[in-house]
Amino acid sequence: MLKIENLHVKLEEEDKQILKGVDLTVEAGTVHAIMGPNGSGKSTLSYVLSGRDGYEVTDGTAMLDDTDLLALEPEERAAAGLFLAFQYPVEIPGVGNMTFLRTAVNAQRKARGQEEMSSTEFLKTIRAKAAELNIDADMLKRPVNVGFSGGEKKRNEILQMAMLEPRMCILDETDSGLDVDAMRLVADGVNALRGEGRGFLVITHYQRLLDHIAPDFVHIMADGRIVKSGGPELALEVEKNGYADILSEVA
Ligand code: ADP
Ligand code: MG
Ligand code: MG
Repeated sequence: MLKIENLHVKLEEEDKQILKGVDLTVEAGTVHAIMGPNGSGKSTLSYVLSGRDGYEVTDGTAMLDDTDLLALEPEERAAAGLFLAFQYPVEIPGVGNMTFLRTAVNAQRKARGQEEMSSTEFLKTIRAKAAELNIDADMLKRPVNVGFSGGEKKRNEILQMAMLEPRMCILDETDSGLDVDAMRLVADGVNALRGEGRGFLVITHYQRLLDHIAPDFVHIMADGRIVKSGGPELALEVEKNGYADILSEVA
């Protein structure tokens, strides 16, 4: 479903190569975790896939099904089914959470050639999904993320993901700085949405998130490449021994 081949990326501003040949295939319905030392290029990979400015792809491809992601604008990538959950969700003062979500959902439907959701249908859907995620009605009325606790912001990211029904979700260190309960919530959100042909790329530093998510595959990224891939046992190995052993083994 998501197929990244030989992806090379440098910074636009300076002559610094960050991704040096990433190869990764995420099949429909599977959850892949990416771990790796700080500065190895994990966030760069998620930014480049979502179309953030400041990076130049110098080689390689990234396809979502038959769509060349790298040729699209960020909003077109979202319409194609890509979703990026942020490490630090932005606050949008003055914009109600409900209004924001309804606009996002309908913009996406329009881009996909679908009819807008009626307000009745939207209300019904958002109430059901919010209830599933233990989000109370009050949070839906407040401005997007303004004054939300860390846990509430993450919950809101998961709600956005549930409403937009993406094909492919990327979570970049969505768990960083979270307490155990909030981490559990992110994991529950992923688990509730996995399957149904949806793919996940979960970038994390911590084995404890993966305890709850149980990824199908784990990849280790170092110096702009995926240097080792395996099953969940790879995350346990990192937890136990750090990255040093793996890095010297592949060197
Ligand atoms: P990770 O998420 O694995 O910690 P990043 O993708 O954030 O790694 O960063 C990879 C490397 O690229 C780091 O050395 C980082 O300093 C550098 N880098 C990323 N974005 C920028 C930028 N906009 N300006 C300068 N250096 C950057
Ligand atoms: Mg980092
Ligand atoms: Mg990062």
